[in-house]
Amino acid sequence: MPNGKRKAKPLEDILKLKGKLAWDRMPESLRKECFLFAEEYKSFLDHAKTEREAVDEVLKYARERGFRDITGPGRKRRIYWVNKNKNMALAILGKRPFLEGMRIIVSHIDSPRLDLKQNPLYEELEIGLLRTHYYGGIKKYQWVATPLALHGTMVKRDGTQLTLRLGEEPGDPVFTVCDLMPHLSRRVQDEKKLREAIQGEKLTILAGSIPFPDEDAKERIKLNILDFLYDQYGLVEEDFLSAELELIPAHQAREVGFDKSLVGAYGQDDRLCAYASLRAIDSVKAPEYSIIALFLDKEEIGSEGNTSAKSKFLEWIVVDLLRLSGEELSDMAVRQVLFRSKALSADVDGAMDPNYQDVHEKQNAAKIGYGVCLSKFTGSGGKYASSDASAEYVAEIRKLFNDHQITWQMAELGKVDEGGGGTLAKYLASYGMDIIDCGAPLLGMHSPFEVASKVDIYETFRAYKVFLGGKL
Ligand code: MN
Ligand code: MN
Repeated sequence: MPNGKRKAKPLEDILKLKGKLAWDRMPESLRKECFLFAEEYKSFLDHAKTEREAVDEVLKYARERGFRDITGPGRKRRIYWVNKNKNMALAILGKRPFLEGMRIIVSHIDSPRLDLKQNPLYEELEIGLLRTHYYGGIKKYQWVATPLALHGTMVKRDGTQLTLRLGEEPGDPVFTVCDLMPHLSRRVQDEKKLREAIQGEKLTILAGSIPFPDEDAKERIKLNILDFLYDQYGLVEEDFLSAELELIPAHQAREVGFDKSLVGAYGQDDRLCAYASLRAIDSVKAPEYSIIALFLDKEEIGSEGNTSAKSKFLEWIVVDLLRLSGEELSDMAVRQVLFRSKALSADVDGAMDPNYQDVHEKQNAAKIGYGVCLSKFTGSGGKYASSDASAEYVAEIRKLFNDHQITWQMAELGKVDEGGGGTLAKYLASYGMDIIDCGAPLLGMHSPFEVASKVDIYETFRAYKVFLGGKL
């Protein structure tokens, strides 16, 4: 055939890379499941608003589904570990020899928020206030003039522990950071750069305004709040020193849009992937390889500390699994298992924002509704500080997802010189295992109300399930 007579369409269908809107590919029967999954996910988000609460919720679900404490008696195939109530893991032993390696999905369950300072309470102009120190990458202007709930734990002088969860039930008080009225904000806020307009020290929480009845007392508002806290909870001011109290948005997860196709909520980075991996591991009955869902803390502040990806928690899990599998316990065996393992770094991706399209390079940006995202690498400024998955591993995951009709997209975060961010992938990659970032795209990431598409959430779950060896 002369060249001029060739038709483009059939060739384009074969040769060109085309994104596919997941809704178009999803059969009606699956759409129902997808919406149901989103309902259960929303309920998880409402209960798991801090890392400690996420551990409690994952644990509750796992126990109901037959997972057993590694330290408990009896033979086990479905197992869990909890580390300091702030991070945890679930595992199922596979059919293959354990030394052949595991299939790991790692997510994080901490989210940006305002933490109370250790000595937080003071009064100013007969108003009781609490000082905060924000946690993770927040845009400070998003956290003022909005209802906040107070969640966390306080360990009293005698060692007893008090768990607080205030601002979630009808009738509970909420807390808030007041913002300056626009009538007077011209010089101190409006003319400044956005990031400098509200200083960290000004994120103070309104905590009360009734004075202690004795008019001769000093700091009567503060004293009245302390009196209330003692009366209600047996607390004294020193107890704040040994506390972890977090202020988080008081609202619940909601459906967004006329068609209810989206979920809006606080903390979807990264409890979306955490929940999807929980549901995925539970759904796999008899995996080939041993499988693990890891739920880590402190990702948002650089994965430092004893509940983070750098805590060596995973190595202790491997030791336990070696023992359960009847293998020899040695450092070499631990390293061999980790080296031979394959993993997904389950974290959300930044979706292309319709209002700010120019920070993205559209050909390589994640899009809402186009399914689960793979990111070969993350990092910033020339792939700096990122784990870059190999072409071979990308090919393996790509084939797996294609073979199972998972709707997926490949994405990188923003234009090359625009900014960036890291994930957990590099910490697990340091063991030598193959790992790639894989999660749902989010709009408004790190804001009090992040938005994800139900179809992307569901495709994320399906992707994790087939990765762990589950049948769709
Ligand atoms: Mn994340
Ligand atoms: Mn994050």
